[in-house]
Amino acid sequence: MQIHIHKAGQSAVQNFNFDQFEFGRVPTDHMLLAQYSDGAWQDAIIEPSRDLQMSPLAMCLHYGQTVFEGMKAYKTSDGNICIFRMEKHFQRMNKSLLRMAMPEVPRDLFMDGIKAVVDLDRVWVSDREGYSLYLRPFVIATEPKLGVASSREFVFMVVCSPMGPYYPRPLNVKVERSYIRAAQGGVGFAKNGGNYGAALYPTIQAQQQGFDQVLWTDAVTHEYLEESGTMNLMFVLDNILITPPLHGTILDGVTRDSLLTLARDMNVEVQERPISVQEIADALQAGRHVEAFGAGTAAMIAPFASITCDDQRYSTYTGPDALMFRLKAQLQGIRTGTVPDIHGWNTIL
Ligand SMILES: *Cc1c(COP(=O)(O)O)cnc(C)c1O
Repeated sequence: MQIHIHKAGQSAVQNFNFDQFEFGRVPTDHMLLAQYSDGAWQDAIIEPSRDLQMSPLAMCLHYGQTVFEGMKAYKTSDGNICIFRMEKHFQRMNKSLLRMAMPEVPRDLFMDGIKAVVDLDRVWVSDREGYSLYLRPFVIATEPKLGVASSREFVFMVVCSPMGPYYPRPLNVKVERSYIRAAQGGVGFAKNGGNYGAALYPTIQAQQQGFDQVLWTDAVTHEYLEESGTMNLMFVLDNILITPPLHGTILDGVTRDSLLTLARDMNVEVQERPISVQEIADALQAGRHVEAFGAGTAAMIAPFASITCDDQRYSTYTGPDALMFRLKAQLQGIRTGTVPDIHGWNTIL
């Protein structure tokens, strides 16, 4: 497989205001595009970012065969550019593709393609503290056909967009017990578009009730906590880091896995097990130390200030010495090269 490169004439980075921008609005100079047809992936092309042209009959527009990833490139303290945990993102993308009856992306195409785009768009990776370049690999079904079936044509693309520091105020979240995000046997573990469209209506309702985000519960009992928005869910109960297990309804988050690994490195006890609303409520009522936060590539960690369940509001700990902030600092240190990368997570360009 080859990657053909058509370079952009002039970089648009000069016109980009890194002091003030809304995330995800502006693509970098280049994008990668590879087509799947006749049962095989064809050569990839990197070209100046542009709009796509496709048939209105293209199947991704109708039947939801879309899969994406979200990952980041950073400037390290010694001026290099590194991409975080490419291998784990690659594995997860192919798991999602398999579930959606879409062709897996070859390792070379994913790895070499992403590295080549980021290398061409180096100037977009800011060295300012907390900045990164967000990378969005995705696959869509492009065969023009209105009958419901699996597409026989697909496109793999990589687009990038700068991201600034993300310091959210602690979130107020609501335990969602009417709507669900995913059920056993469904597609909850896949990063496919339909999961996100289906989450919007309950999320907007929660926002109208004054909450920032919902905490999804399991589809059967609505007792067990699963995820929050597009983040995995974590708790610190006394000194134990607890997170729901991967059993098909939640994303195998790269941030989740990284934080669990770093906690074990710090000799913090880690438990992957079901965690009920009642357990959290009881712990808070008993005056125990409870931290709660979301974990994902975009925010890294998003602390929760309160959890509301059936009109009962519980406040959680967000003090500066919280374990979640120590874990975040460690993770950020690895990404930017100030903490040794003992697990080999960084791909240095
Ligand atoms: C992407 C995502 C996550 C977080 O995964 P990361 O690999 O850490 O970014 C968690 N939950 C959902 C539903 C997601 O889409």
